[in-house]
Amino acid sequence: MLVERHPGTSPQPKARRINIRTMELFRQIGIDEAVHAAGGTLAGHYRMAAGRTLAEAELLEFTLPGGTPDWDAITPATACLCAQDLLEPVLRGIAEERGVDVRFGTELLALTESDDAVSATLRGPDGETVTVTTPYVIAADGAHSPIRRQLGITRSGRGTLGSAVNVYFAADLRNLVRDKPFNLCQIEHPHATGAFASIDGERRWIYTTAAGDPGRDWAATVRTAIGSPDPEIEILSVLAWEPGMFVADRFSRGRIFLIGDAAHVMPPYAAAGANTGIQDAHNLAWKLAMVRSGQAPPVLLDSYHAERHPAGWFTADQSSIRTGNLRDMHSASTDGTPLADPLALILGYQYPAGAFVPDGTTAATDRLDLTAQPGTRLPHVRTGDGRSTLDLIGTGYTVLAGPAAALPDTADVPVHHISQPDRLGITATGAVLVRPDQIVAWREPATPDGIIRLPDLDTQLRHIPPIRTTGPAN
Ligand SMILES: Cc1cc2nc3c(=O)[nH]c(=O)nc-3n(C[C@H](O)[C@H](O)[C@H](O)COP(=O)(O)OP(=O)(O)OC[C@H]3O[C@@H](n4cnc5c(N)ncnc54)[C@H](O)[C@@H]3O)c2cc1C
Repeated sequence: MLVERHPGTSPQPKARRINIRTMELFRQIGIDEAVHAAGGTLAGHYRMAAGRTLAEAELLEFTLPGGTPDWDAITPATACLCAQDLLEPVLRGIAEERGVDVRFGTELLALTESDDAVSATLRGPDGETVTVTTPYVIAADGAHSPIRRQLGITRSGRGTLGSAVNVYFAADLRNLVRDKPFNLCQIEHPHATGAFASIDGERRWIYTTAAGDPGRDWAATVRTAIGSPDPEIEILSVLAWEPGMFVADRFSRGRIFLIGDAAHVMPPYAAAGANTGIQDAHNLAWKLAMVRSGQAPPVLLDSYHAERHPAGWFTADQSSIRTGNLRDMHSASTDGTPLADPLALILGYQYPAGAFVPDGTTAATDRLDLTAQPGTRLPHVRTGDGRSTLDLIGTGYTVLAGPAAALPDTADVPVHHISQPDRLGITATGAVLVRPDQIVAWREPATPDGIIRLPDLDTQLRHIPPIRTTGPAN
């Protein structure tokens, strides 16, 4: 059951950049094409632009620190720009279609936890209150998370890092931007410094600038930033917000789990907030399913904090040290902290501990370095029939093996033989065990007799470190 106090999905475009890892997750559940279709008008708007005004701006070269990657060697997915107000209806539709009890206009008023369940008091659109009893609760209730507060969970991080205003407006700018399909356009005008974000690339835009005089004439400022008196501007909303880094000190307590902004707030400079939240859900969903169906012990759920807290912290920290300067995105951080390679930030994170068997190998963050190290995302390798290794992963564990390796007949795990085992860091007799979230759980580079002996993952779960708080609360 999903409850949301608002009557419908977000009317604000907010997040737009759906990164390749999130698109891989959407591909896994079969909605990647629907998301691309929803973001359709922004297809091709992947480059940045900059100039004194929008009229004078030019597209910047698309650069990544290691040069232009061979995307087909990295991922079967394509990143997508799809504003949150267009994405959320797709997600809502798929949830309803697949049997989720979706209740808009319904507010969670209180939670009471016992040893074996949580009782939730809900107020529906008719004002009536009902109590629902459920084994687990996922708090996806945003940056100000009432549930996190009720649980008394503190947050750490770099705190507030500035103040900004988003001016969401409608204007037909098609003539002005026809030859520069931009994602973001940095405006360097002394009286209108800021940036435009394309929402549909035609008529809907966001202009972001530092917060200042609250009574400012926003239509006039936007016109200065556009650099043309002609367009008719309709201001749709003006939203003040504060970029900042706040990470909850624990991502779960008892039967309640924090995900998304409830767990980690980060500045938008790496476009990672919504992506990280969706990836939290992906990490947690299969664990809840396996525990609920009796396929795994409840201790599996402890790995959610062990894995997602460091991942959330790393992404929030990396988002905080990016300068936001589109001309100089990848070279310098605000305080000298090394910048992770942008692709490594999206795809290359290795969980330090959790529901996997470490083998001592580590993944670098200064470049994309995925060779099926336990705790990392499975490398994408094309299989003989043109599919990706990622496409072979279903809702249970999966073994990917070298051509000369086999599971004993008693093992009840699907096996796929891979023609390029070296891409997974194994030989012809080696094997890799992959979790339903496409994270490598175990790797055996070579077996002496070609027989794959799977590890006892339940024993491994006993080694998950207890939750420690990370610093002073904010
Ligand atoms: C300007 C801007 C640009 C951004 N750009 C990007 C980007 O390009 N890429 C990216 O990945 N992220 C981006 N983000 C971040 C992204 O928008 C957030 O990370 C994301 O919306 C968080 O989703 P969430 O579901 O965790 O929280 P929210 O979107 O805040 O949703 C929480 C929901 O919980 C509901 N709720 C709260 N309490 C209750 C209750 N008691 N009962 C019922 N419902 C309740 C609220 O009504 C709300 O709808 C951007 C953010 C901003 C501000």
